[in-house]
Amino acid sequence: MYDRFGEAGLSESGGMGGGMDPQDLFSQLFGGGGGGFFGGGGGGRPRGPRKGKDLPHRVKVTLEELYTGKVTKLALQKHVLCSKCDGRGGKEGSVKSCQGCNGQGIKVILRQLGPMVQQMQQTCTDCQGTGEQIPAKDRCKQCNGKKIIQERQVLEARIEIGMTDGQQIVFKEAADQAPNTIPGDVIIIVDEQPHPRFKRRKNDLITDIHIDLLTALGGGKVNIEHVGKHFLSIDIPQGEVVKNGAIKVLRGQGMPSYRHHEMGDLFINIHVDFPDEIPIDKIPLLEQALPPRKKPSAITNEEEVEDVHMEDISEREAHQGRSQANGAGAGQMEEDDEDEAGGGPGVQCAQA
Ligand SMILES: [Zn+2]
Ligand SMILES: [Zn+2]
Repeated sequence: MYDRFGEAGLSESGGMGGGMDPQDLFSQLFGGGGGGFFGGGGGGRPRGPRKGKDLPHRVKVTLEELYTGKVTKLALQKHVLCSKCDGRGGKEGSVKSCQGCNGQGIKVILRQLGPMVQQMQQTCTDCQGTGEQIPAKDRCKQCNGKKIIQERQVLEARIEIGMTDGQQIVFKEAADQAPNTIPGDVIIIVDEQPHPRFKRRKNDLITDIHIDLLTALGGGKVNIEHVGKHFLSIDIPQGEVVKNGAIKVLRGQGMPSYRHHEMGDLFINIHVDFPDEIPIDKIPLLEQALPPRKKPSAITNEEEVEDVHMEDISEREAHQGRSQANGAGAGQMEEDDEDEAGGGPGVQCAQA
């Protein structure tokens, strides 16, 4: 069987200071696509150069890398025209048109089918469809007459600051070479990886922070490690109350935009973590600090009062409650929860 053309592959080695040898992992994955010499199977060999196949390759990139930019080295196993014979396959003048097919690469066979004569096309077996023959003694030693050789090339893909998922870096005509063919492009596609703490929305970032109840009520500091590797120290001033479920923004702390490097914003979803219990003797201090309790709604019929006690719900009930909250029962659930001080669905969310 003939060597296949259009066979190339990429592999990558991460980072700038990698030093690791890029491995040629992908060379088997791409390929096929028919011989570079063959026509479409219709009218023999095509006139003029055809365009080779593009070679797409996704590169995994983290938000940190998109914030600072980086260079990824990619090892490309590809076909190049043989330099020894300049892609002729043999000594100059030794390449002759195949006599078996008259240089067409295909033979036309006539077949009698009743009253009809059917024309069939077959790849010429004398020249394996190349349309050419090179005497064995004149054949190029380096490529064995195949005109192309495998070569390993390292491409440096520049992941630029602020690039987005799906964005392409194109290496023009860097894919497989073949005689009479304009090579396709190597297309590197940015594959932005999900971040454990930050979501990206265009150039804005979104994150969640958890603060304790005392900080939420009495002020304090919260630190966030940014994707830009710096730390943000957020000051929650005293005298201001940060509520559970509040969304705040840090202007200019998002991602830099592509090319112009204009900074997006960082949105913060705040979750207030409540303590599980509180010492009873400290409750008077709370009563001093917080607004007074809401008065229970008036009881109009003194004979019909029942004293009841709330229990924690089971794991299964909690699950049912959550799925109900997404459906029709949502309004009901919220109303029932309203009297618990600052509790409700937000607390569940913070625990998740
Ligand atoms: Zn050669
Ligand atoms: Zn032939």
